[in-house]
Amino acid sequence: MSDGLQICIHKGTDQIGGSCVELQCAGKRIVVDLGLPLDAELEATNLPDIPSINSDDASLVGLLLSHGHRDHWGLLPKLPPAVNIHLGRKTLSIMTAAAPFIPGGYAPAASATYSDGQTFDLGPFKITPYLMDHSGFDAYGFLIEAGGKRVYYSGDIRGHGRKAALFERFIKSPPGNIDVLLMEGSSLGRLRDEERFETETDIETRLFDVMKTTSGMVLVACSAQNIDRVVSVYRAAKRSDRQLLVDAYAAEVLKATDTKSIPKPTLEWGDVKVYIPQAQRRFLKEKNIASLVDAYKGRRVFPEALPGEAARSVMIIRPWMLHDLARAGALDGATAVWSQWDGYLKDEAGIKFVEACAASFIRFETIHTSGHADPHDLKRFSEAVSPKKLVPIHTFHPEQFEGLFANVVRSSDGEWFSA
Ligand SMILES: [Zn+2]
Ligand SMILES: [Zn+2]
Repeated sequence: MSDGLQICIHKGTDQIGGSCVELQCAGKRIVVDLGLPLDAELEATNLPDIPSINSDDASLVGLLLSHGHRDHWGLLPKLPPAVNIHLGRKTLSIMTAAAPFIPGGYAPAASATYSDGQTFDLGPFKITPYLMDHSGFDAYGFLIEAGGKRVYYSGDIRGHGRKAALFERFIKSPPGNIDVLLMEGSSLGRLRDEERFETETDIETRLFDVMKTTSGMVLVACSAQNIDRVVSVYRAAKRSDRQLLVDAYAAEVLKATDTKSIPKPTLEWGDVKVYIPQAQRRFLKEKNIASLVDAYKGRRVFPEALPGEAARSVMIIRPWMLHDLARAGALDGATAVWSQWDGYLKDEAGIKFVEACAASFIRFETIHTSGHADPHDLKRFSEAVSPKKLVPIHTFHPEQFEGLFANVVRSSDGEWFSA
């Protein structure tokens, strides 16, 4: 192989999930993302064939993580601990806070954090992170320069979230002279070319409408790590004179954002409280983290008070909590809002949740928008970057790229090409 910059998409040329890209220049390598495919089990999934991972030739100079979604970090637990992981400071903080609560939770042992716009070197690679709008918090794309070539990795992006200004900032002054753009295309095959996704502001309005017309508690089933969505829920709750209730997992994730404008159960946010379901109380003890709740002192709502608080509350839940809320007698007149990908409703837990809501006469609504750019915004993104080569990644429909974008060159998983 030549000394120039070489690229290999190990996974992601024809699927969403499991993204992994390796770049090589002058005998040194970096890996960008090391995700777990969406439907795969960690134990049963092997690392991509990256010889430098297990060799002591020191050719692997680091791993770049774009953001904290499992389809980008899921295989990191299989890396030898000596490999240094470079990630955003808030991504590290959220992964660390979430780790005890989620199955297969993980936070890197050896890590270094990077910042928006701050260029750093890894061997011959010069890397500049760009903070972007995405449903995952603290999500970045990377400009990677080496061997006289310039590559841009989009990471996961959108232009219709609460940080749309970051997307517009990028479009206005994109990195120039890009030889290769690796661009995600999650929305292809999900939307017609000119169909647009609703914005997070639209979602907030629809949540508000439901809260206004619900006599009891509003239960929102969303990911606590979708911080944009939690903010939409909080703002709609505030407009409808309701407080926001979160469990210990969501409380820890929100605190870990370490961002002033994000609601969290602390003194400054009088209308955010913590409700700990019974099963979670046992779980915290088993995990030896029961002392976490000391920090929620004066900010708790206990089960006996819940029926009285229900009509002026919105709770962020996961499906298993419904049983606990029924036992607390807090579901009279409640509405449940499914506020995540509706594909999960076809899983066993999703099906059970819909059935349990129906059995308890709980009104059921779906209010959600995608974490990924629609084709319209992907076109704007690719035209702004105007690369010599655009290589599809993170998509189930790479064949649709040619019809939408210029200079498309498709690659296959595991194939090396020159920048
Ligand atoms: Zn993502
Ligand atoms: Zn992704």
